[in-house]
Amino acid sequence: SLVITGATGHLGRLVVEGLLDAGVPAGEIAAVVRDKEKAAPLAARGVELRIADYSTPETLTGAFRSGDKVLLISGSEVGQRVAQHQAVIDAAKAAGVASLAYTGVLGGPDADFALADEHKVTEQAILDSGLTYTFLRNGWYHENYTQNLAPVLEHGAVLASAGDGRVASASRADYAAAAVAVLTGTGHENTAYELSGDVAWSLAEYAAEVAKQSGKDIVHRNVTPEENREILLGAGLPAPFADILVGVDTAISQGLLARRNGDLSRLIGRPTTPVSDAIADALK
Ligand code: NDP
Repeated sequence: SLVITGATGHLGRLVVEGLLDAGVPAGEIAAVVRDKEKAAPLAARGVELRIADYSTPETLTGAFRSGDKVLLISGSEVGQRVAQHQAVIDAAKAAGVASLAYTGVLGGPDADFALADEHKVTEQAILDSGLTYTFLRNGWYHENYTQNLAPVLEHGAVLASAGDGRVASASRADYAAAAVAVLTGTGHENTAYELSGDVAWSLAEYAAEVAKQSGKDIVHRNVTPEENREILLGAGLPAPFADILVGVDTAISQGLLARRNGDLSRLIGRPTTPVSDAIADALK
């Protein structure tokens, strides 16, 4: 089977839909999910459910079978992911899966910011496992920005400490299409893809595009990392999470999320989705 973990998440759902659209029979797709209720729409389409939680290794023993092609979608519980992903890798190895694809972060071992740490350790654990792998090193999602437009529209400002750094983001659907290409295609064994959008934009350009589409005055307001941290804490974010987000802006200011080598558009066989499309969707 083609096995997708995190299949009830935003990316995972798009991958399963993409597989079905590509003509993969539902009976050949399995979804590893922790919440059976949440996965009911997948089951309704004929996708096999395998219930397991990354945090409970015992539950993962039934999640994989010999010969499966697995997509491990990285977990969302920052700080716990090294142990969680290791448990998935161990279970996949024990089951004798054919291959393991993993959604890491743009830059892989060179991604020098805190949010990347767990991805780097996970990639090394996959290499150490000896499994046939594909690293899908995902750059930023457009949606990280466009799903957060309410405060931007309210305050008339895109606030960040990323300076004039650029972001080569792409839509979640683009990254999902890349995963579908890898799961259904050949020649991706033991390969790392650096996935990012065709266009790298600055926050000033992003603010200008939101202004144009919304008809409101929106400016880019750059603040220092310390000010950014205070603002995030003031908005109620826990300190460790605020630190991670400030670290991301610093990474952007250093150009670490602007890398573009064309891997994503090559894999999906079309240009990546422009950020202006994601802004339009969010404003609908
Ligand atoms: P979501 O948060 O929508 O999905 C995360 C998925 O992981 C969910 O299906 C969730 O299950 C599952 N999951 C989390 N913890 C566990 C666990 N302990 N056991 C089993 N399943 C678990 O994120 P997205 O789909 O948008 O993104 C996928 C991943 O990409 C994220 O988890 C994160 O690692 C990374 N990411 C990348 C970003 C980028 O810009 N490149 C931005 C944000 C995240 P459930 O549905 O039950 O909650």
